[in-house]
Amino acid sequence: MRNVLIVLSGPSGVGKGTIAKKLTEKNQNISLSISCTTRCPRDGEVDGREYFFIEKDKFLEKAKNDGFLEYSNHFENYYGTPKDFVMEKLKTKDVLLEIDVNGGLNVKKSYPEALLIMVAPPSLEEIENRLINRHTESLEKIKLRMQRIDYELEKANLYDYTVVNDDLEQAITEIEQIIIKEKNKQI
Ligand code: 5GP
Repeated sequence: MRNVLIVLSGPSGVGKGTIAKKLTEKNQNISLSISCTTRCPRDGEVDGREYFFIEKDKFLEKAKNDGFLEYSNHFENYYGTPKDFVMEKLKTKDVLLEIDVNGGLNVKKSYPEALLIMVAPPSLEEIENRLINRHTESLEKIKLRMQRIDYELEKANLYDYTVVNDDLEQAITEIEQIIIKEKNKQI
């Protein structure tokens, strides 16, 4: 059986963080990757646990030397998936990345054996109604968030699998079955 690089993506609020946490807690063979970032640690964050916190110069140097499976810029800070770190872990375990759709598609370009799984909400109307009823965001902001969700889900057809998170335990079981199937695949 091969060790698999698993990418979990999906719109915000879909529950992928919970799924990633539960998957790694339940399955000792799955290890969560740690990204590099140039942003400062927040209170309680520890270098090497939430992120590897590195200087911008060092980040750009690493990027130039092909040291990332993918990287991008969010809110003026860089974030990237460190190639050596992931490849070393993959020697003994499956590795899970929780990144956005564009990051996932870039991983597939640099590492085509990666398994891309999209977590989708049961219904878009339900998310929209939940946001509206929360009264925490303006209708305009909600519209923008819904457009982003549409954009991400549109890319789902480029992913290997889409799992609907209607029932959390069922979604986790489905993902575990996909991983087992991939581990047994000859490539
Ligand atoms: P935060 O600063 O709140 O921890 O993360 C900001 C954004 O960076 C989030 O959308 C998060 O998903 C994204 N991010 C974290 N690590 C990576 C990474 O390795 N690659 C990419 N492309 N985005 C990341």
